Amino acid sequence: MQLLLTNALLVDATMAEPRYGNVLIENGVIRDLDARRAPAEDRNVVDLGGRTLMPGLIDCHVHVVASMMNLSANAQLPDATAMLRSLPIMRGMLARGFTTVRDVGGAPYALAEGVEQGLAEGPRLVVCGKALSKTGGHTDFRARADTHDPYRWQNRFGALGRIADGVDEVRRAARQELRQGARFIKIMANGGVGSPTDPVAWIGYSVDEMTAAVQEAADAQTYVAAHLYTAPAIQRAVQCGVHSLEHCNVIDAEAAVAAAAKGCVAVPTLVIFEALAQDGERLGLLPESMAKIGDVRNSGLASLEILRKAGVAMAYGTDLLGEAHERQCEEFAIRAQVLDSRDVLSSATTVAAKLIRMEDKLGLVREGFLADLIAVEGNPLEDVALLAAPSRNLKLVVQAGQIRHSWLP
Ligand code: ZN
Ligand code: ZN
Repeated sequence: MQLLLTNALLVDATMAEPRYGNVLIENGVIRDLDARRAPAEDRNVVDLGGRTLMPGLIDCHVHVVASMMNLSANAQLPDATAMLRSLPIMRGMLARGFTTVRDVGGAPYALAEGVEQGLAEGPRLVVCGKALSKTGGHTDFRARADTHDPYRWQNRFGALGRIADGVDEVRRAARQELRQGARFIKIMANGGVGSPTDPVAWIGYSVDEMTAAVQEAADAQTYVAAHLYTAPAIQRAVQCGVHSLEHCNVIDAEAAVAAAAKGCVAVPTLVIFEALAQDGERLGLLPESMAKIGDVRNSGLASLEILRKAGVAMAYGTDLLGEAHERQCEEFAIRAQVLDSRDVLSSATTVAAKLIRMEDKLGLVREGFLADLIAVEGNPLEDVALLAAPSRNLKLVVQAGQIRHSWLP
């Protein structure tokens, strides 16, 4: 089965400028960027009319099982309900041009497999299973007065994480997640907004626990991603060998320099804090959570500048929950306020592909790469904010060589 996309302006983050191409796709792989128009029996030809053809987008911080903003309520959903509610979230992501996402807490390996097998329509999923947190940490969603055991939700489909305390439990939990198909390990290394009893500045794990998680991940040829905001939490995580630094809203220059020296990747997620501040109350966010938003929201744009100055690679992330998922592309416009278009484009393509360890298959328009491609109006190398308006500018979504959506005239 062949697909020929003609009359395209090819763009990826490594190209100096767009270049003309006719892209032949065969068995899900890009075969030729300058294909001739010779007719073939089962060849589907689509004329892009000079529009931009670029790599499919990659969001490195999502929770596809988070169908509600109230994460405690989400964790208590019956499994079947939570699973059914995740399906439109995944479909929505693909329809916004995200052909791959890294799920950083909640989605099981079976869901990734379901997408691969065509049982569900959505982005390719790179999963970590459940995120690990200490008692009273960011995946402990018990109300303050709730003294029931914290483990009772951890295998629920809608739970983003599980509790693991002490080196032995952290090792066992990491090994269980890896055995069950985790491609990396996620830990909660700071307090959080969506959980009721942990102030944002609390540090999530001791040095010994964090080091144990990093060793387990390294033994399984992978890395740890950590939820964190504050400079002390980032310093500790970097020293312990954590590779992927999520959020980083309240980072300072010293922590950013330390992160850059270790080759860490930051995954800012600024759009979620806009969504929480604007719609959190209406969408059922706990009052305890509403009160914590200001602690991280106001420093968002400054954190991007600190990271850029220190030379920390940044991947695209959104961290949206519930109804707010539809704002997934707004992060492009937020970042474009302080970062170069090319850097923002890399964050959702080449940097992201490297972070999910698929840089030899995804993130570029190149022969031999997987045919995950989107067509857009305009040139994102000049104005990456055009990607923030998919209803206007997104015209075609191709995943593994299959046309998933077309809004071409
Ligand atoms: Zn987080
Ligand atoms: Zn998250």
